[in-house]
Amino acid sequence: MNGMFCFQCEQTAGCAGCTGAAGVCGKTAQVADLQDQLTGALIALAQAIGEAAPDGNARNLMLEGLFATVTNVDFSAGTLQRLIDRAHEARGNREPEDYDMQRIWDADEDTRSLKSLVLFGLRGMAAYAHHARMLGYADGSVDVFFFEAMAALAQDQSADELLALALEVGRVNLACMGLLDQANTETYGDPVPTPVPFEIEPGPFIIVTGHDLKDLDLLLGQTDGTGVNVYTHGEMLPAHAYPKLKAHPQLKGNFGTAWQNQREEFDGVPAPILFTTNCLMPPRKSYVDRVFATGCVAFDGTHAVDEDKDFSELIAKAIELGGYGQAQHRTGINGGTQALTGFGRATVLSSAEAVIEGVGNGQISHLFLVGGCDGARPGRNYFTEFVKNTPEDSIVLTLACGKYRFNDLDLGTAAGLPRILDMGQCNDAYGAIRVAVALAEAFGCDVNDLPLSMVLSWYEQKAVCILLTLLHLGIKDIYLGPTLPAFISPNVLKVLVEDYQVTPTGDPREDLAKLVSPDAASATSEGR
Ligand code: SF4
Repeated sequence: MNGMFCFQCEQTAGCAGCTGAAGVCGKTAQVADLQDQLTGALIALAQAIGEAAPDGNARNLMLEGLFATVTNVDFSAGTLQRLIDRAHEARGNREPEDYDMQRIWDADEDTRSLKSLVLFGLRGMAAYAHHARMLGYADGSVDVFFFEAMAALAQDQSADELLALALEVGRVNLACMGLLDQANTETYGDPVPTPVPFEIEPGPFIIVTGHDLKDLDLLLGQTDGTGVNVYTHGEMLPAHAYPKLKAHPQLKGNFGTAWQNQREEFDGVPAPILFTTNCLMPPRKSYVDRVFATGCVAFDGTHAVDEDKDFSELIAKAIELGGYGQAQHRTGINGGTQALTGFGRATVLSSAEAVIEGVGNGQISHLFLVGGCDGARPGRNYFTEFVKNTPEDSIVLTLACGKYRFNDLDLGTAAGLPRILDMGQCNDAYGAIRVAVALAEAFGCDVNDLPLSMVLSWYEQKAVCILLTLLHLGIKDIYLGPTLPAFISPNVLKVLVEDYQVTPTGDPREDLAKLVSPDAASATSEGR
């Protein structure tokens, strides 16, 4: 293997593609090649199964295999090879041979773009289906769609057919996010508004990051009565708001400013870290022995937690390290000492009357959904500036880890509601969609006619499937940044811009002016 090609995430080299010996994320050419081989083996498995119903083993393997190829999940040649072997075993001696992914990477730019859009959307959706599966929830039609869509990637299709398939990924992803919403809320209760401190108390503790609530639940169960505290990190922050999780008194607060700062922030911390999903950056040597990986996460040199989810070694490590001797007063990136979370769809919908009344009587001038992934690119302070400059009588709904850019800000209230409402993890885009649809029904209009603007930050493949869901729903005027996906060809971008009015983010104040008062903004720019 002499080089690699990967352009699936926002930090891809030169906004074009990672090539050479390793990607920006630290993925080596060998691992990138194995991820391609795994994807090709899963496509062949889907082709071999054809019209037949995939069995339970094939369904689980499809989810695990796709999830393993999401950015920042699996950096281990060994675990990827085992997944490839399992795919071969599941296919048996059925035709065809593994699909060669180079056929997609070398295809004409529009085919490559649209097939990438489908594949990356499927990878993101597989992560959601996997989280739901961990809680015992599955949807047969979602499972089968993975096989249909993967098999379709091997076929020659027109641009129109591939665009329709991409929108179908969006439709099925809505059902998949709904399934995960059901799994999370039926298992742990509806989130309730909860302040989450950033202070770290004295004594042994564990940091847990990622999205998998089941892993956190099991860890909390095993740390009950041990004297070991648990702190969330990154996308695990909204877990504090679930009644059955917050009932554990050792779930104390949140550690860290944003996932992409982990290499600096985990260095020198007297505690182990548990990674449950796609948030792993290659650990520094100074703390790799304190990293524990579970589920689909893998990195050679870290501790792998097996399927039994026995966290005793992790807990013993926390006790051995002992934590801090004194309380650590930490802040978010804007100097705040806590974040407020727990404004899931049930809570927001229970306040719908206040929102509707507030919009009706002018107490609420505008609603913004500012959400999505965070990342290291300097231009991401756009989202901080955007939120800071929103009108004082507006509400900002947020979700996913992009909120760390502003979730420690105290922007006061509007119509009696906090101005920043954290709806949860990226998959809680489902809840945001439900809220938008409910508001549109209440106002007797289309979602696109609400005083609601969507400003989304993207980084990896979960954001891709959410964007496809929004496009499937016909939601227009989405502002997307900090850069556009490298895998979007000029012709595909033309469709997104002309048919859906997807707009690249620019200057936060100018974008804000356009969204709040489009006529005034166009008059201003005409007058220049
Ligand atoms: Fe590059 Fe992103 Fe691919 Fe990593 S996942 S190799 S950073 S494009």
